[in-house]
Amino acid sequence: MQEFDALVIGGGTGNIVASAAAAEGYDVALFEKERIGGTCLNRGCTPSKMLIQRANLANTVREAARFGVHAHIDELDVAGFVEAVNTTNANAADAMTAAKREQANLTLVEREVWFVDDHTVEDGDGERYTGERVVVATGSRPFVPPIDGLDDVDYLTSREALRLRKIPDELIVLGGGYIAAELGYYFDALGSRVTIVEMLDTLLPREDEDVAREFTEIASSRHEVYTGYRATAVRGRNGRIEVVAEREDGDVVTVAGDELLVAVGRKPNTDAIGLETTGVSVDDAGFVETDDYLRTTVDGVWAMGDVADNSMFKHTADYEADLVVENVFRGGDHPADFDAVPHAIFTEPQVGGVGRTEGELREAGVDYVVGTAQFSDTSMARALKLEEGFVKVLAAPSGEILGVHVLGHEASVLVHEAVVAMKHGLSVHDVAETIHAHPALSKVVREGFADAAAAVDGRG
Ligand SMILES: Cc1cc2nc3c(=O)[nH]c(=O)nc-3n(C[C@H](O)[C@H](O)[C@H](O)COP(=O)(O)OP(=O)(O)OC[C@H]3O[C@@H](n4cnc5c(N)ncnc54)[C@H](O)[C@@H]3O)c2cc1C
Repeated sequence: MQEFDALVIGGGTGNIVASAAAAEGYDVALFEKERIGGTCLNRGCTPSKMLIQRANLANTVREAARFGVHAHIDELDVAGFVEAVNTTNANAADAMTAAKREQANLTLVEREVWFVDDHTVEDGDGERYTGERVVVATGSRPFVPPIDGLDDVDYLTSREALRLRKIPDELIVLGGGYIAAELGYYFDALGSRVTIVEMLDTLLPREDEDVAREFTEIASSRHEVYTGYRATAVRGRNGRIEVVAEREDGDVVTVAGDELLVAVGRKPNTDAIGLETTGVSVDDAGFVETDDYLRTTVDGVWAMGDVADNSMFKHTADYEADLVVENVFRGGDHPADFDAVPHAIFTEPQVGGVGRTEGELREAGVDYVVGTAQFSDTSMARALKLEEGFVKVLAAPSGEILGVHVLGHEASVLVHEAVVAMKHGLSVHDVAETIHAHPALSKVVREGFADAAAAVDGRG
């Protein structure tokens, strides 16, 4: 049995905790069964955004003639750039691994481990490691739904899709969340004919209803989109894949493609880590239950990142890592504050959002006003020839910001003005009364806030 002050299970965002704890002088063991850097660096945020950059460039060249700039694409070296992206990220992961191996007080165990009791884990050789403090950061993986025939075909998840060196002529995407939307956009830009099958009524069903509706319209102009259809069967036929999908009213469609991407959500990695040998509780969806301090139901065991839910984004995992470091290893006493957590979707146009959606406010019976502004009404949008996009600001009659939703070019950046305002309790008037540089795209955010401020004043 090897004894440590702390065990960190999972070297995705967990690697930040392990290194910081070791730097504080704790004797730490960090366990990682794949590559340090986890999902984000190796098979998530980073490679997907690097590839989407290629998609954006291809579309920019295609659209350049709208500006009188005549250009064409000679070649899309997909195999080359997929290799380059994955090599860049593998090198970054290797550099992090080398640094961990060298770090004082840190033992990097490049093995899969599972719990054998509350504070002890074991590897495949029966070696045991115990620690007074344990941080569970085992992340999540693609959820694959039980669809008849799915296991009999070679389907892709996001992990494989990001490494595909040949763009399929026809791609079927199951799911309409952000990963499905981003990958659908990427493959479309590189020449695939994309068909999306989503069970709910719109794509991006977790977004504000106006964003979801307009995004679905834009996606439908590029892809074949079946919303409201649940995939019920998958089969291989003549080297192709067919998906049968049914609508609630009984309508049935069969769509076919060369590849099938299953992107219907992610599930927490809690089912195969021996949690049943511990007192750590998981909820019905399999997420580790934590309190505001990320404490689990066992003393001295914390959970963070995707495995503990809290929205399943890298930025929330990073925030939680900092909180664990502060509370567990530096004597802090800070509860988590998830009040103004933004999210972004990196298609073109992008989506950026923070706070509650109109549907959530309606359902909760909260009184609110709406302010909106269209990208097309701004000078920069005219310069960039942006025809779509809007900002939607939801505010309380007092002027408090309740939610801000942006669909449009650079929405992932634009939303952050609202995030800072919300986090620090500014009102819609505070943002509206702030001078914004002309003709920066941010002016559309100001216009959205000005419209909300006028709606608040109209109520008064
Ligand atoms: C295609 C895609 C795109 C994404 N894009 C974005 C984005 O743009 N923005 C954003 O914020 N988020 C994005 N995400 C989500 C983001 O990647 C995750 O929220 C984040 O990486 C979660 O970090 P984590 O540390 O909780 O888990 P992970 O990074 O998954 O780390 C968990 C680690 O634990 C290891 N592990 C698991 N079990 C064991 C075990 N028993 N023993 C040893 N090691 C174990 C795993 O190998 C893994 O490395 C994306 C995800 C995907 C799939």
